[in-house]
Amino acid sequence: MFEQISESFRLALSKVRFVDDEKAIKNALDVLKKALLKADVHHKVTKDLLLSIETDMKQKSIGQKQFLDAIKSNLTQILTAPGNQGFVYAQVAPTIVLMAGLQGSGKTTTTIKLANYLKLRKKKVLVAACDLQRLAAVEQLRQLCEANEIDLFFIENETNPIKVATEALNKAKTGLYDVLLVDTAGRLAIDEALMSEIKDVKTALNPHEIFYVADAMSGQDGVKSASKFNDVLQISGVILSKFDSDSKGGVAISIAKQLGIPLRFVGIGEKVADLESFIPDRIVSRIMGEGDLATLVEKTSMIIDEKEAKRLNQKIKKGQFNFNDFLEQMESVKKLGSMKSLIGMIPGLTNVANQIKDIDLENSKEIVHIKALINSMTKKERENPDLLNNSRKRRLAAGAGLSQMEVNRFLKQFENASKLAKKFSGKGGAKGLANMLSQANMNRPR
Ligand code: GDP
Repeated sequence: MFEQISESFRLALSKVRFVDDEKAIKNALDVLKKALLKADVHHKVTKDLLLSIETDMKQKSIGQKQFLDAIKSNLTQILTAPGNQGFVYAQVAPTIVLMAGLQGSGKTTTTIKLANYLKLRKKKVLVAACDLQRLAAVEQLRQLCEANEIDLFFIENETNPIKVATEALNKAKTGLYDVLLVDTAGRLAIDEALMSEIKDVKTALNPHEIFYVADAMSGQDGVKSASKFNDVLQISGVILSKFDSDSKGGVAISIAKQLGIPLRFVGIGEKVADLESFIPDRIVSRIMGEGDLATLVEKTSMIIDEKEAKRLNQKIKKGQFNFNDFLEQMESVKKLGSMKSLIGMIPGLTNVANQIKDIDLENSKEIVHIKALINSMTKKERENPDLLNNSRKRRLAAGAGLSQMEVNRFLKQFENASKLAKKFSGKGGAKGLANMLSQANMNRPR
């Protein structure tokens, strides 16, 4: 997420490695300043950050460790605006969230991503289609909800967003939903009519949160429009979409400080899993190349059901891990988001993540072949790989459009992998997993 900034921080730090004197600190601060400005961090925010690091350093003995601590604490401070972090549930359900943003900012996509994020956390989510300005908006939302099994409330041919919003709230209450996400109208630019419409919806719903979706690529313009929305609506959080296209990352560093509103999530791709919560100390840890285990453990614990993990472990132990289990596991891993971002969360591997190309679990040639192969198997064959004799393999190759050699290679790989897993599971694999899960439950953020 923050490759460029992360790299510059490392460079600045290297300047104080050998010569721990004031000159080295000054050099390092210079490197840091250039890097922050180059990454489009707002000049005033850059100035403030450097000043507070310098002040901190004056009160400490000079050294790389102290410099590192000063950067970390001041950066965390800059990223932390008063307000909530991550997603916060209201004391009495449903938590009502108004989603606002300009047209094309990614508001609709982000609403679905957020619904999915909450669904993965076992919350019952209802989305309300109140963007009645753009003709295709309701249809777009309907398709996205259907594809991702998310409940949608809409009224056919209705033109009054307040009516839709209030009826959606009734449904959320009677249907015992945990969260109601309300998609509101966007325009190409901020205008009176847009503002008064959203204001009316706000008054009707009295939402707990108002999230403003800002396009990261619009940089400082995005900050300005967020500020205008804030003047009228008092937004409680910003979500930066399309952060994957803005390699500079500066706007994420400045936005909380500039607006006085916390950045709550960032969108890092077009897929539904591509949304990450923005929790300042975790982000700083990632920028400093120290990874973010808390988020990684939380993510994995969400998709691994403890009972299911134990069942799978038993199967592996008995050598009964089959192709159905394999497909299921692949689907689960997909829910975690991109491989590159997962690797980046492992302490020590942030650098590695910056250097690798992402592995596309959905479309990579290898995965597509494997899926085609498994789909060509009969139910019995999937459950019992031992059934696959030569004539069955020939049939599979024809069915999946692969050569026999490719089929053999994959089956061999699968056999080796399950042998390895069996060996590993003997060494307290289930216990290790259980430990990890109980820790994740303790650390689980809101
Ligand atoms: P809306 O008009 O604000 O509702 O915008 P949409 O949700 O329709 O999004 C506009 C375009 O931005 C779509 O093509 C989305 O796929 C794309 N988009 C949204 N969020 C992201 C993101 O985080 N990364 C990338 N790369 N594209 C995104």
